[in-house]
Amino acid sequence: MIPDALAMAAHFARTRWTLNFRDRMKLEAWQQARLYHFMREVLPRASYYRNLKVDVLADLPIMDKATMMGDFAAHNTRGVHLDDAFKVGFKAETTRDFAPLLGDLTVGLSSGTSGNRGVFLANPIERLRWAGILLGRALPQHLLVRLLSPWQPPLRIAFFLRANSNLYTTLNSRRINFTFHDLMLGAEQAVPSLNRNQPDVLVGPPSLLRALAVEACAGRLTIAPSRVISVAEVLEDRDREAVRAAFGVATHQLYQATEGFLGYTCEHGTLHLNESFIHIEPYWLDTGRTRFQPIVTDFTRETQLIVRYRLNDVLRVAEQACPCGRAERAIAAIEGRSDEVLWLPAHDTGKAVAIYPDLIRRAMLFASQAVSEFNLIQDGMCMTVGLLVEGDRKVAVERVRAELDTLWKVLGVATPTLAFTDWQAMAAGAKRRRVRLQNAPEELICAF
Ligand SMILES: [Zn+2]
Repeated sequence: MIPDALAMAAHFARTRWTLNFRDRMKLEAWQQARLYHFMREVLPRASYYRNLKVDVLADLPIMDKATMMGDFAAHNTRGVHLDDAFKVGFKAETTRDFAPLLGDLTVGLSSGTSGNRGVFLANPIERLRWAGILLGRALPQHLLVRLLSPWQPPLRIAFFLRANSNLYTTLNSRRINFTFHDLMLGAEQAVPSLNRNQPDVLVGPPSLLRALAVEACAGRLTIAPSRVISVAEVLEDRDREAVRAAFGVATHQLYQATEGFLGYTCEHGTLHLNESFIHIEPYWLDTGRTRFQPIVTDFTRETQLIVRYRLNDVLRVAEQACPCGRAERAIAAIEGRSDEVLWLPAHDTGKAVAIYPDLIRRAMLFASQAVSEFNLIQDGMCMTVGLLVEGDRKVAVERVRAELDTLWKVLGVATPTLAFTDWQAMAAGAKRRRVRLQNAPEELICAF
């Protein structure tokens, strides 16, 4: 529909050209104005917030997934019950027909173990706004020109997802040809269709992008995307290298969750938080203020309310300002979720020390080029390391052992027992999580 396309284009243009803050003070003033409007006009429409007396954001309680899911209907402005939303979401996933709506609302389910899945709701206006903002932040200049030139062929976007959604098909228009690829089917299955479609933009989790890079290097996949975008998993250096080797381009990131569109990569390759549309308070995890969990308030949404919602993700701040000059906070890396943080007792005090997944990833990378895949699970004072090795396994195991030993020493923590096993490939469509805390050491109090 033309009005829809116009609405999307308006959000797109606003994102790209108007909300382009260079001055932190101006950005914060804009956020305060939007928050004021949000707290007055939108917040009282959800029953949980209706009778709360608030002047400033800090007056509101901090929210987490369990609290929100426990009283879902009170946290959206349409009074939708969790059971009803789940019913629509599950039906879409089992039938692989992602068109059904709940009234006019799009329902999406986040990935996650059963019982721990998130739900999001979006009305038609939010859907168009989301699509416009996403394109405004994700497209490079030359594809933008192409998008806006009606005489040129439409932009082709290939999107790999665990589940499609009306949210994504909103992108489909005369100027955009959006193709959903089912992540559950894997990379190999997608090759013929990708070869036929020749996407300009390739979007998917980095483990999948890497598998596609392998297909391309083997000569089976013959596409030349001019933008590759990583979503949903931690992007590693090796993923970046594989994509560059296969397609000759850098990998950009979109930091997108059930809780909103949280960040994007700028033209310098730096990940910035999407602070023109979302307010983010850092919940600092260390005294040096190098890592934090984001507390998100989405002042752009109006159906499902995300208000002072503390995410499980661990973000590491960039040490230097980005040369692009954007006022939105720069992030060095999304390190993973909090259950990917390991804990060991300090040598001297016995107190719990956090070992961030990024430190483990770096140690493994330094250990040996021969290690092509790994995962590590902590169970008390034992760590099980799964390795996929090209070449001499014994040598690789010893190097990994030495590199991890160095890490424990640098951190000043007790040395855990290491057990080595074969690396197990993930199930198709599963999320890649390299480092996982199963159980912390007994009697260790582990909290940020
Ligand atoms: Zn930048």
